[in-house]
Amino acid sequence: MNLDPAQITLVEWGRRFGELKQSGLPEPSYGGPLERHLLDGDFRLAKLKFDNSQAALNLWNFLLTEEDRLYADRLVGRKIIGTMKDLGTIPVMAYSLPDVTAFYPDGTWWAPCVMELSSGVLAVADSLGLDESFCPVRAMLGAFVSKAHFPNPDLLVCSVGATCDDFSAIAQRLNGIGYPILWWEILHRRKPESGDVPVQLPGGFQCTADQVLFVENELLRVKKAIESLAGVAITNDKLTDGIRAANEVRAILRELRRMVFTADVCPLPALEMLVAEMLVIHFCSDRKESVIVLSGLLAEVRRRILLGRGLFGSDAVRVFWVNPVADLRVMNLLEECGGRICGTDYLFCHAFDAIPEDVEPMKALAMMALADPMVGSAGDRSQRICNDIKYFGAEAVVISRIPGASHCATEGPIIADTVREQLGLPVVEIEVPPLADAMLPALNTRLTALIETVKAGRIQV
Ligand code: SF4
Repeated sequence: MNLDPAQITLVEWGRRFGELKQSGLPEPSYGGPLERHLLDGDFRLAKLKFDNSQAALNLWNFLLTEEDRLYADRLVGRKIIGTMKDLGTIPVMAYSLPDVTAFYPDGTWWAPCVMELSSGVLAVADSLGLDESFCPVRAMLGAFVSKAHFPNPDLLVCSVGATCDDFSAIAQRLNGIGYPILWWEILHRRKPESGDVPVQLPGGFQCTADQVLFVENELLRVKKAIESLAGVAITNDKLTDGIRAANEVRAILRELRRMVFTADVCPLPALEMLVAEMLVIHFCSDRKESVIVLSGLLAEVRRRILLGRGLFGSDAVRVFWVNPVADLRVMNLLEECGGRICGTDYLFCHAFDAIPEDVEPMKALAMMALADPMVGSAGDRSQRICNDIKYFGAEAVVISRIPGASHCATEGPIIADTVREQLGLPVVEIEVPPLADAMLPALNTRLTALIETVKAGRIQV
């Protein structure tokens, strides 16, 4: 049953799910009606608009059942590793072993939004001294203490060094209240100078061979800890296979991004693309299934493009979005204002790049970690953003500040100035709290102004 692409509400998805069931569509083990997630307290779903494809249904169900998967993994004795901050590197290593699951407790930062502040995780963080002056990742601390969102990991690993102050402080507090953490250091990436051996990193940045070696040695400590936990060695062969498997996921996602962001008419909405991008960092705790889910989305996008079908009309303004929104509802809002997403930097775009397969696997992972735009200068990150804007043909940029985030206050203006100087595109900076209902009218005004600016410029040309 292939309908025209549309965004539908949770209630409408209830009806559509019934029709799909009647037509005998097969469902994955985590399938079912989206509405059932309201019973878990995911109240924000009732305020969102979703893509109406079965591929999108599978995507949402896959995302919203991750907690169940983690608890099921614990029951069958798989080792669970909580990896923090690096966004895309340690899970590649962990999933090289068959009986290890890695996930990011950081991901709980969306719980206050998805559960419309009913989860209580922010209040717990407040009570432990991490108030609103910290970014919403402080929700992670509340999630550990409340024990309501994921099983206590067998091993906790966190990158430090070239990381934001918020995360360092939150993770140190976690450590201080009795959660042992294996810290590994990621260096601040610097450009090679005379006398340095330069290394070209995935994504276009450069660093030095010394830096790669340092990070490789740090990652070796993590590798040993995972091996000791699992009782199995991560051989070079296993790690090479793990890198290949991760690259398969990344390749599907890169193609999905290319097709969606460059299509004449948008074939998949912003919200589904955001969730799809998130799958790449730790495969939503099931690497094989993440391939199936992303492949389903890619097939749907190909089908829509082939049929010339899409959403929002061909005049929707092509927007590049910087930083993830704490309130998912705002991605719908952009489209309601006449925009569509054509390019993103949600703080983990290094996780889309292919991991080098022509160097030793541990070195490849070190290069990956150093390719993170967030471990270098804001100028580096701005340059990658400009390159991606050109590649995807975006016409405007939204920089979405994260409340309390230590990097946002200084980084946003640098990115905005670079985009204006290099590309001459209109840029707007907004701030999105975990529940943005009270700010939606103001956000609507600012996004609409951006869209109208682009449209007015089109007429003059
Ligand atoms: S301050 Fe930014 S980079 Fe740091 S944890 Fe918060 S959102 Fe992530």
